[in-house]
Amino acid sequence: MRTNSRPVQDFVWSVLHTLARIVPHQPRMTVLMYHAITEADGFFAVSPNDFDAQMKYVRAHAEPVTLAQAFEHAQGNRVKRDSVAVTFDDGYLDFSTHALEVLKREGIPATVFVLGDAPDRKELGNDLVLMNADQVRSLSKEPLVAIESHALSHRKLKHLTPAELMHELTESRRLIEERTGTKPVYIAYPKGSYNGPVIEAVKKAGYEGACSVIERGVRPGDEVFALPRVQVDRSTTLALFAAKLSLAADWYYALWLFAKRLRGK
Ligand SMILES: [Zn+2]
Repeated sequence: MRTNSRPVQDFVWSVLHTLARIVPHQPRMTVLMYHAITEADGFFAVSPNDFDAQMKYVRAHAEPVTLAQAFEHAQGNRVKRDSVAVTFDDGYLDFSTHALEVLKREGIPATVFVLGDAPDRKELGNDLVLMNADQVRSLSKEPLVAIESHALSHRKLKHLTPAELMHELTESRRLIEERTGTKPVYIAYPKGSYNGPVIEAVKKAGYEGACSVIERGVRPGDEVFALPRVQVDRSTTLALFAAKLSLAADWYYALWLFAKRLRGK
């Protein structure tokens, strides 16, 4: 087990999770956001063993669904039991070497958001190996895997000029279609960065939905161009993972927003 370095947060999570188990609620939809699955250092890197345990938990306690089903839930299509969609940002090669086997074993679909051929490593913040064009091509043949867009460079989309923004959105679609034979329909905003003009450009470029990093469950009526996703990272113990799939996630997010407002940020 990992050492507990965030005692206050973990205590709040465990109280909320206890309450979440007794409060009646509609079946939930959660979209998980992963990055790398590796023993390598990095806050966003989940170890293969932890990932394995997390996917077993999903299989045992929820209905694994595609990202498209999560978008349908936002559009009003309710689910019959708690459901989980799994996504991976950046397109690290360790998805193929460490995650895919587990996903296949558990029968869990996944969406991988890939970048262009020469992303900005400083913006990405690590040196982990990304999939090349051929690796993306062969991964796209896996029935459980969908390849979608994470734009090209990993720069924050809301800081780009309109021309740069449109290039990131359309060139990414073109590259992915060239590699997979299928046009991507979803995009994950690099670093969760978006605003009104970014959403308009994403629609204009032909995308049907976009993923953000709003850390709560998906609710019917949610904006499909800023779909909430819950982050799983190195600090996520299995107890915290279970709490993040529950109503506790929505409450924790509300508390976080409240605290942020109090601090005047
Ligand atoms: Zn990213």
